[in-house]
Amino acid sequence: DNTPASNFLQTIIAEDIDAGRVTEVVTRFPPEPNGYLHLGHAKSISVNFGLAQANGGRCNLRFDDTNPEKESQEYIESILADVAWLGYAWDGDVRYASSYFQQLYDWAVYLVEQGRAYVCDLNAEEAREYRGTLTEPGKNSPHRERSVEENLDLLARMKAGEFDEGAKVLRARIDMASPNMNMRDPIMYRIRKIAHHQTGTDWVIYPTYDFAHGQEDAIEGVTHSICTLEFEDHRPLYDWYIENLPVQSRPRQYEFGRLNPSYTITSKRKLKNLVDGGTVAGWDDPRMPTISGMRRRGYPAVALRKFCEMIGTTRKDGVVDVAMLEFAVREELNENAPRAMAVLNPVKVVLTDYPEDKVEQLTAPNHPSREELGVRTLPFSREVYIDAEDFREEANKKYKRLVLGKRVRLRNAYVIEADEVIKDEAGNVVEIHAHTIPNTIGENPEDGIKPKGVIQWVSAAHGVAAEVRVYDRLFNHEAPDKGDNDYMSHINPASLQVVTGAMLEPSLAQATSEQGFQFEREGYFVADRYDHTSDKPVFNKTIGLRDTWNG
Ligand code: ATP
Ligand code: MG
Ligand code: MG
Repeated sequence: DNTPASNFLQTIIAEDIDAGRVTEVVTRFPPEPNGYLHLGHAKSISVNFGLAQANGGRCNLRFDDTNPEKESQEYIESILADVAWLGYAWDGDVRYASSYFQQLYDWAVYLVEQGRAYVCDLNAEEAREYRGTLTEPGKNSPHRERSVEENLDLLARMKAGEFDEGAKVLRARIDMASPNMNMRDPIMYRIRKIAHHQTGTDWVIYPTYDFAHGQEDAIEGVTHSICTLEFEDHRPLYDWYIENLPVQSRPRQYEFGRLNPSYTITSKRKLKNLVDGGTVAGWDDPRMPTISGMRRRGYPAVALRKFCEMIGTTRKDGVVDVAMLEFAVREELNENAPRAMAVLNPVKVVLTDYPEDKVEQLTAPNHPSREELGVRTLPFSREVYIDAEDFREEANKKYKRLVLGKRVRLRNAYVIEADEVIKDEAGNVVEIHAHTIPNTIGENPEDGIKPKGVIQWVSAAHGVAAEVRVYDRLFNHEAPDKGDNDYMSHINPASLQVVTGAMLEPSLAQATSEQGFQFEREGYFVADRYDHTSDKPVFNKTIGLRDTWNG
């Protein structure tokens, strides 16, 4: 079973609590604000907040903002909104790595004083050469034996902006022969003469992820610092800094396998390329695997959370079938989305026996199995729209819709029978003439001739015209960016179809943005978060009623 209570991280935490090693579990979710959060981050959020919740602890939200050139306030705001929307509450105020810059600098000075860090003048190319390879040890930098006094002076001058970018770095003095490349005198600080979104121009040197992360955890009293498996090789360095600095607490790093969904990419850099290149309309385009994209697509937050639990948390990197996410979305919407009727490709049916100025107010349940969701009113009149796909002049027995001379039920309304088809010069059906079968609301026809099926409809006089954006998977390849695959060549050309002339039942004009529905027989749809208004309704297709993906 894959509930959070049973994953290997929970086992570790339970042992730590039992052994008295921790009294309060503190985790953190540490995004770098260099893009919008995606499905992989949802997994990390669910793991970190989930473990804190399950153990009566707390989880911090911390921006790991040590790379100012790629970061922005826009990303910070989107991340805050996404975490809150997913339904998690971080402990206390939002935290920023940048608010610890002075403390981190003081600790860097401390390591220099201890002879454990030095200023190095090798340029990038030389440093690479000195670093060695996986099979060959590195060589000591010629600057490795600088005196503490000289290093302190140079570090202070780096901080004061005396040197150009790339001219000097601060490195930890560990072991150039270590089999772990991360331990070969890793960089702690680099010079970047660039303003920071939080600290402005206060700093011209910025700490590396490795020097910053564990110390941020220690400052915040994080007990379990959970990250993805690619950081496993960084753990000895994480521990080295903690052991060699007078930090106030002892965090430990644990790794789990990244979420790697099929038919999707989860790299911020590649997602940014899709946005910058105009392949999608923005980070929150409903086709994007970003949290804000999935939100705009109509994926319920609870479905994302359930999916993250369902797939489990392990120490293996594997591909998760995106159909599992779609299953969770469908299941949630089937349970909770009110039903409504929409005709995406309307053709008019004139009920020739029905009086011209008569309007009946029919009643329809909002959900087939949940009475508590109530009922709505459907106006019925002489002219209705049905979907052009739901009518044929002739058809075999398998076609359970309207056929000339045959019967069909209009959902929640009458059984009708088609009599005549009116076509334009090109032979297109422009109108269908039909008649109602009397006393068939909620009843079978008295003559015993049953309708072939049930179709959705909208009263022509009362229906509301709408734009419907029909979305499908963004990529038509299972592994769009794996191996030699060029993800740009695997974009599904049919990932968006804009339907402008759809007709909705009138109650849908009252939908509020982000409200989701099942449009009967069509799938699940959501009122667009930004573009929907009751004057000009815009709905996004969230997902079909069944999994019909065939690549
Ligand atoms: P990207 O590679 O997309 O830039 P990242 O890991 O650099 O992602 P961060 O903002 O640093 O992005 O990530 C914040 C947290 O989310 C990290 O702890 C990271 O390990 C985790 N995370 C990112 N992607 C995934 C994923 N696919 N599955 C699980 N956790 C993830
Ligand atoms: Mg990162
Ligand atoms: Mg990254």
